Formats: sequence, C-alpha cells, structure tokens
Amino acid sequence: MTRLRSLMAEGRSLDGRLAGVVDLIARSFVADVCSIYLRLENGDFELVATEGLKQEAIKRTRLARNEGLIGLVSQQARPQNIQDAPHHPRFSYRPETGEDPFTSFLGVPILRFGRVIGVLAVQNVVRRVYDEEDVETLQTIAMVLAEVVTTESKSGSEELADVAVRPNRPQELIGRSLSDGLAMGAVHLHDPVVAPAQFFAKDIGHEEERLKTALEQLRSFVDSMMVQHVSPLGGESRDILETYRMLAYDPSWAARLLDAVSSGLSAEAAVDRARREHRARLENATDSYLRDRLHDLEDLDNRLLRLLAGHEGSVASPDLDGKILVARRLGPADLLEYRNAGLRAIVLEDESTTSHAVIVARALGLPLVGGVDRIMAVVENGDDAIVDGDTGHVHIRPESDLVAVYRDRLLMRSQRLAEFAAIRDLKAVTQDGVHIELMMNAGLSIDVDNLDASGAEGIGLFRTEFQFLVSETLPTRMEQQEFYGRVFETAGDRPVLFRTLDLGGDKLMHGARSTGEENPALGWRSLRLALDKKGLFRRQLRALCRAADGKTLSVMFPLVTTLDEYRAAKEMLEQEFERAKRRGESYPSDLQVGAMIETPAFALSFHELKGEIDFLSIGTNDLHQYFFAVDRDNRMLSDRYPILNKTFLLFLKDICARANACNVPVSICGEAAGNPLMALVFSLLGFRRLSMPVSGVGPVKRAIRRVNLSQIGLKFEAILEKQTSDMEKDLLNLLQEYVQV
Ligand code: PEP
Ligand code: MG
Repeated sequence: MTRLRSLMAEGRSLDGRLAGVVDLIARSFVADVCSIYLRLENGDFELVATEGLKQEAIKRTRLARNEGLIGLVSQQARPQNIQDAPHHPRFSYRPETGEDPFTSFLGVPILRFGRVIGVLAVQNVVRRVYDEEDVETLQTIAMVLAEVVTTESKSGSEELADVAVRPNRPQELIGRSLSDGLAMGAVHLHDPVVAPAQFFAKDIGHEEERLKTALEQLRSFVDSMMVQHVSPLGGESRDILETYRMLAYDPSWAARLLDAVSSGLSAEAAVDRARREHRARLENATDSYLRDRLHDLEDLDNRLLRLLAGHEGSVASPDLDGKILVARRLGPADLLEYRNAGLRAIVLEDESTTSHAVIVARALGLPLVGGVDRIMAVVENGDDAIVDGDTGHVHIRPESDLVAVYRDRLLMRSQRLAEFAAIRDLKAVTQDGVHIELMMNAGLSIDVDNLDASGAEGIGLFRTEFQFLVSETLPTRMEQQEFYGRVFETAGDRPVLFRTLDLGGDKLMHGARSTGEENPALGWRSLRLALDKKGLFRRQLRALCRAADGKTLSVMFPLVTTLDEYRAAKEMLEQEFERAKRRGESYPSDLQVGAMIETPAFALSFHELKGEIDFLSIGTNDLHQYFFAVDRDNRMLSDRYPILNKTFLLFLKDICARANACNVPVSICGEAAGNPLMALVFSLLGFRRLSMPVSGVGPVKRAIRRVNLSQIGLKFEAILEKQTSDMEKDLLNLLQEYVQV
C-alpha cells in the first residue's frame, strides 16, 4: 500500500503512473501479465497499461463490451477468479497482444458510483490459485485507480480523451408517468455517495477504532428502529427489519471492513469499497429478494459512511430549489423531509416501492416518473435533466434544441395556469346556468393547505389512508384525531367527505409486505380489511367523531360490495357517535353517511339502501377496473378499455338516474373527473358534483364555464345511442371546442 501510495502521488504523467502500477502489481503478485483496461464512450474496453503484453498493444487493443473474460468482469461487476481460463466459455484469445495462452486469470472491476469504468486483471501462464487476499488487494488497487482516473478526467487529461469515466452523452430514458407535469433543472441525487476524504490510513489503529465506533453507532440505530416499529398489517414488516439488523450485525461484513483497514485503507475507504461492490452487484441482480438485501447492505454502507463523515441525520440538503430529485427509491419519511425543499420533479429507479412517492408527489404537484431502469448508473449530481411527467420520458444532459422545445412547452403551461388562476374564485356554472360543484381530492395536510388556491368548493374525497401510508409507524387514535381536526379547521365551512381506510391491495403501509394473495386487487383490502380489523377501524371512526366536534361529519366507506357491509360499517360509525355523545366527549353536530360505488355488485344494488344512506360517490378508478376486469395499473392494457365506452357510460347514467330516484346525491370522484372532456361527459350524463385531483380543477372549471349543456344534450344522446360509433372520437368532435387549450 505504501508503495502504491507514493507511486500515485508522483508527478509523472497518467500513462507513466499506470505503467508503474501494473509493473508493481505484476511483481508483487508474481504474475506474468498485469493489465488495465478502461471503458470507452461506445462501451468497448481499451488496453491502457500492461506489464507482460506487447507495449504496442497499448491504446490499440480493444475488446467489445461483453468480449472475453474482461467483458465478463464488466458484465458481472465483480471479481472473476478463474483457474482454467482456456476452457472457460467466455475465453477469447487475442494474438496481437503477444500473450502466451495463460491458464489462470483474476480480474476485478474498476468501479465509479457502481458503474464499471474499467477492469484490472492479472494472468499467469501456469495454473495458479489466487486467494481471498489477492482478490481483496486487487480490488483495493482498483478503487484507488478509479479515483485517480476520475480526478484526471475531471481535470481534462488528454490521455483520457476517449475514456468514458463520467457519463456525458445525452440520454433519453423512459419510465412510468406517475404524476403529471413538466420540469427542467439540475439533478440532485438522493442520499448521494459520500466520497472518502482520504484513502490511506495514516494510523491504522486509529482507523480501526473509528470504524468500530461507527459500527456500534449504526447497530444501536438499527436496534432503536426495531423498538419503534409497529405495523397493523401483520408481522412481516418486523421480518424485514430483522433481516436488516442481521446484516448490520453480520460478523463477516465487519471483519471484511476491518481487514481492509488493517491492509492500510482509511475507515471510509474500506466502507466505500464494500459499497461499490454492493452497488455493482445490485446493478446486475435480477432476483428481487437478492436485490432487496443488496439495497439493505448499500443503505447500511451509506449510513456508515455518513457516520464516519460525522453527518448522519437529514438527507435533504437545504438548497434544493429548482432541483430534480433522482433516487433509487424513497421511503415515506424521506419524502416528507423533502416537502418544503423547492424540488421541481422526482425520478425513481425502482417502481415497486413508488406508491408513497406517488401520493406525496401528487400532493406537492410535482411530476414523478418511476421505474426508470438504471438511471442511477447514468446520472450524476448536477447533470441537467428534463422530466416529462405526462409521458414518462426523462432526458439526461439534453441537447440544446430539445431544451428549446421543452422551454416552449413550459411557457405554454404557465400561460394556461395564469388563465386558471383568473377564474379561481368563480363557480363552475355552465352557459345555461347549471352549477356543477367542483371539489378536490386530498389526503395529506399539504393538499388541504392547497384548498384555498385550488378554486375547489370543498374536499369531495379525503383519502384517510394516506396518513398511514406516509407514516413510518401506525398513527395512534390521537394522531388521527389531531390530523382530522386540522383538516376541519383548514376547510372551515367547506364540506369534506372523509373516506375511511382504504388499505391493502396496492396500498401497503411502510414495511408491510403483501399478504401473498394471488390477486390483491380482488382480495382482502379496503372495507373488507377494516371490518375484519375492527380495532383499527373503530379507532379511526372514533378519531373522526371526536375531531368533528360540533360540525357535520361526512364519512363514506370504500369498496362496498354488499349492502350488509355498508350496514355493518354504518352501525360501527353510529356506535362511535353515540358513545362520544354519551360520554360527554366532543362529537359531530350531524352525521352524513355515504358509500363509494366501486364494485358492479354495489352499483346494481345501492338503491335498496334508500332511507339508510345520505350520499354516494363513484370511484371510477376502481369501478372501471372491476367493470372491465382490467387491472388499473396494468400498463399493457391501460388504453384498451377507455372510460368513454358506450356500455360504461350507460352504466354510469343508470347509476345517476337510480340515485336521483332515491333522492340520494351522487358524485364522481375518480381521476377521470379531472379530465375536462370526461368531466363534460359526466355533466351531460346528469352528474352535478365532481371531485378530482387538484390539478384538474382549473381545466375542468374552464370547460364547464364554456359549455351550454342544453344546446348539445340531444347530440350527446344521439352519440350514446348510435349503434356503431367510435365514441371517443364522436365525443371529442362534439366537445372539443370547450376543452381545447
Ligand atoms: C377510485 O377508485 O376511483 C377512488 C377514488 O379511490 P382510489 O383511487 O383511492 O382507489
Ligand atoms: Mg378506489
């Protein structure tokens, strides 16, 4: 290590230093060949230094990205220790390098932020077994090389002109659009890698002590997490934490770190080396269990690095104004930390864990694209990016003409927003005087804070499960009550329709694993779960009753399937109401009880509840999914069964007519209500109250204020009745002038 350190510090050219390194390694390893390959822009590898091969081959010999054993090291991003190389299926022989056919091969990746930027390899002509220590030493040297090459490339070294150390080409990536909107800005990487301040240990004993102390701190942090955590949905979340703790206490992990320190690395460099390995393996792992564990390990590495650097704690740095947050994944707590940071958009690599992020991003009005495969490998802090939350495109380091296109689109957007702001305080009344009550959907206090600015007349769907989904622990009854109390306070005289817990299915609490059902959307979720977990449900109903204190409390139940389910839930609510009254606690002045129409079974039977129900609200997201038997999140089928389908619209019309006949007000509160074209269609079908995502209120209000329903009513009926029609097209023709920008 000492010799390597002085070699690297020498004032020689980079080529000279690399030549020195291969020479040193070949001698100390007693290897016949030692070579360094670096990755070029096109993904190929170029030989940049060698001891043992012909010197003329340097900067001439190139290997395709997956060629030979060098390609294998790169592909797997981990050391390859091969004793009988000529018989290895990936062996490829390059005579121009003048190499004797060798028997043994040891290659390790040169890694930067988990990306393979090169390969360092030693070879022996005779059969030789490289031991663990050889592998570790070579990895350590590769880490030093990564730093040297990076530093040189940042300073614009001529010798590295072709080498792709830092990703710098424009890249277009496609993910899944999870929250609409458009943004441009510089990238901020969540949980950025803390680079070690120094590589080599000045005092090995001191570094060992630092590492041990940091490990102890880390372990007690993990222990305290275990103590605090409780989940209402079974014990699985505890299992996850238990695994995390096992990893933190894994003696072999600690031993490897300490070994690295005793070989001369600083504590940070030792952890950094482990982190690079985990990251690189993660890049290549496809098995989801293994990926989760590697994620855990990487989290632990990062935490340990932060502890060593002395800044454990908040991940959100103060100055993120105008930045685009890019992360592999975000936990619920992370997201809330970022809520006031001034971010413009969020991009996530993982898709499986994005549901919390979706909730918070939508509430903050931030575009979010999830499932952007391998974005972390191609982006760096400070890169420019464009996030198109409407289409799911993410452009990294975009060309200037693309930037110009998006600038125009952003400008148009802000003009439209100004138009919506101008009609914000006006009601949505059509040209022929029909008032359509526009409400907004909410679930977090950030949404409720938006109520004044939204132009909505109230909250037509308050998704109470959001508080549970974004919380690390189960909210207590008191926490729920305080939260609802704040909602009442902010809403003032405006109505709020609280929807009781809609957990399960795709809405899983932090740390709760799925129940292993084959079809969670058709399974134990929502009201079904609430009626089985009576303690959980009762706590919520009690919190709602107490919070309403002298005001009207409107509560609706999600995913009602049978009339009896509705009746059972209503009875529990009334019991809580009576209990609060009886005990002289705070209670609502009036109780309004409703149900969501989300299943065809309930849609066809709710009228039997006449006299027992105060209001209804159609959740088109779920009703559409169960009507067409199509998973609402299945990308392959997302366009196949449009809502503007004759049978579905006639179904909605029938629901509206039956509700009117029973004198029960009915609204629509799915995402579709926020689409101006669909909102007009719903108004033409007879609906007079729509609740939608806050971003829909302005566009829908403008469309409604432009339309004259009685003038186009007959034409609309004709389209509905037409035997063969491309309904979407006909409706667009009829309504286009009211919805167009
Ligand atoms: C719906 O299903 O339309 C609805 C509003 O509920 P959620 O989207 O929360 O399931
Ligand atoms: Mg629903």
